[in-house]
Amino acid sequence: MRAVLIDAPGVLRTAEIPDPEPGPGQVLVRVHACGVCRTDLHLLDGEVGIPRPPVVPGHQIVGTVLAAGPAAGDHDAPPPGARVGIPWLGWTCGSCRFCREGRENLCDRARFTGRDIDGGFAELAVADARFCFPLPEGYSDLQVAPLLCAGLIGHRALRMTGDAVRLGLYGFGAAAHVIAQVAAFEGRRVFAFSRPGDEAAQELARRLGAEWAGGSDRPAPEELDAAIIFAPAGELVPLALRAVGRGGVVVCAGIHMSDIPGFPYADLWGERTIRSVANLTRADAREFLALAPRVPVRTETHPYPLAEAGRALDDLRAGRFTGAAVLLP
Ligand SMILES: [Zn+2]
Ligand SMILES: [Zn+2]
Repeated sequence: MRAVLIDAPGVLRTAEIPDPEPGPGQVLVRVHACGVCRTDLHLLDGEVGIPRPPVVPGHQIVGTVLAAGPAAGDHDAPPPGARVGIPWLGWTCGSCRFCREGRENLCDRARFTGRDIDGGFAELAVADARFCFPLPEGYSDLQVAPLLCAGLIGHRALRMTGDAVRLGLYGFGAAAHVIAQVAAFEGRRVFAFSRPGDEAAQELARRLGAEWAGGSDRPAPEELDAAIIFAPAGELVPLALRAVGRGGVVVCAGIHMSDIPGFPYADLWGERTIRSVANLTRADAREFLALAPRVPVRTETHPYPLAEAGRALDDLRAGRFTGAAVLLP
């Protein structure tokens, strides 16, 4: 099969590699679409380590099941022909304290699609059947792909803001463009902060329900109850913290961020909270994939052929598109 691999930091190549074979409890999937996430860029840039390179990145996989490996345990694999989504969380141990507490996103031995397990920048992929999800009907493969990380982890971040009404979204990329719609659906007031001068992102934010959109160099037009930072820019943390009122929370939703500059304790005082959100649980996936069609979430997607994965990642880095890039093998 044709696949895109990361060999080492900065080294991306397209190659013919042997077709993967499903092991016990796994399914073999023909990939129809795979969303491009900022985490893929962090993996390529070496900001998030790859334990055993080379690896095929891509963790927003939409495909159809071709075959199942040998049965394992008591779970049923989705049947051949079933359309499934495969997210970042690819395997958990089920026995560590986090798994036992329903926090498998923090599993001691978790394995992640497109980092520890070959992902979806390829024609075929194998995945543990327990971590494959049926996808809502009414979405094309292209449209549904960004829901699998931008949507799932974005929604986990949104839940961490509790019942905040005035919500700031810092970094208006793939995740924010999904979550703004969910937040508006839930009756929240959305304030979108894009890269300064990114009129296209601000225009998209307003179209998707934000009541205010502007550059992240501008102060919030009023006090916020919570903020989610999707951009990998640590300097946004003190800015967002100053924008939220007493008791407010700043949620950092990315896997990597540049260092956070110092700030006066007074900005944290008043029971303000800074927290991160890591990965997702299978419960998050089931919950969000049921919610998305009710909103209904609409994604703005930019398709690229598999061979142009490098260009998709460059365009993401440079902010050349709004919404989400999706590879079509
Ligand atoms: Zn992701
Ligand atoms: Zn575990």
